[in-house]
Amino acid sequence: MATHDARPKSPRVNETRIQKVWIEAGCISCQLCQDIAPNVFRVEDGQDCVVQPEAARHFRGSREDIEQAARDCPVEVIKLEFVPTQQ
Ligand code: SF4
Repeated sequence: MATHDARPKSPRVNETRIQKVWIEAGCISCQLCQDIAPNVFRVEDGQDCVVQPEAARHFRGSREDIEQAARDCPVEVIKLEFVPTQQ
């Protein structure tokens, strides 16, 4: 029997780019996102995850890792905004 993934699918890679990455309230500081994309996410001991100040320069090159971190975050607080590539 097929399973249904309720999480939204990422937009097509060639038609969009990541415009913005942010963390909503509820991070449990598990560090998973930092392990996957350390140039974008940072988790200090006992603190909520933050998006690195220079993260935007890695949105293109680390897109796959960023999307994986957003999918795998156990509390689903990593949010991504995409825009069409032409913008
Ligand atoms: S994966 Fe999610 S819960 Fe874990 S540190 Fe990152 S934002 Fe927080």
